[in-house]
Amino acid sequence: MLAIHAVPAFKDNYIWMLESGGRAVAVDPGDAAPVEGFLRERGFSLAAVLATHHHMDHVGGLQALARRWKCPTFGPAREVVAGLDYRLGEGDRIRVPGVDVDLDTYDIPGHTAGHIALFGAGAVFCGDTLFACGCGRLFEGTPAQMVDSLGKLARLPGATRVYCGHEYTLANIRFAEVVEPGNRALGARRLRETAKRERSEPTLPSTVAEELATNPFLRCDQPEIIASAERRAGRRLAGRVEVFAVLRDWKNTF
Ligand SMILES: [Zn+2]
Repeated sequence: MLAIHAVPAFKDNYIWMLESGGRAVAVDPGDAAPVEGFLRERGFSLAAVLATHHHMDHVGGLQALARRWKCPTFGPAREVVAGLDYRLGEGDRIRVPGVDVDLDTYDIPGHTAGHIALFGAGAVFCGDTLFACGCGRLFEGTPAQMVDSLGKLARLPGATRVYCGHEYTLANIRFAEVVEPGNRALGARRLRETAKRERSEPTLPSTVAEELATNPFLRCDQPEIIASAERRAGRRLAGRVEVFAVLRDWKNTF
């Protein structure tokens, strides 16, 4: 039986730990120490490391973990990550060692140029591309690429659990409520997620269905969001990519 645990790292990162029968797999271990602490505490062994993109807060602990546990590492084919054994791109499927889960790879450029998502067992690990009620900054990609990448994630089954890389949810909801004040699902979500944070619980995972209902970056075709973006830009916007680009810039300074 597969379990997925959150291991907090740094200020607001999550390292996701897949576990089955005492064997564990780390997703995006920016730091080895909290992973080692988690394994020790639970008596688990590490069977593999997975990475979604090259940023150090996602791969900083990869090599130390792979050396210590002599386990294979998997990550993006189109990025430079030191210590990667298996390089994954769109359409690649892996059987993850130790936990016997099949994961399918999607190329989702935008936050970084070679960012990947891994989807399987009703879960998607999407790094810094889709966040709960938000999306990643465009460090290496264009708005059009990001819209396309978010579209791939949005087309996964609605019940898919979304495991992203950071606890940004409450700030993202505050922005979403400014952009789409008429969306009543947002207020309900704010109450739900605030209660989790007050109990010191992660707000994650969310689901694809929840993101479709509340995440402004997946809702760039909604009239209220288009109107907000056009007011912000001071001009008419032609299509989803332009609306997305205005929202993404707006959020950067929100
Ligand atoms: Zn990142």
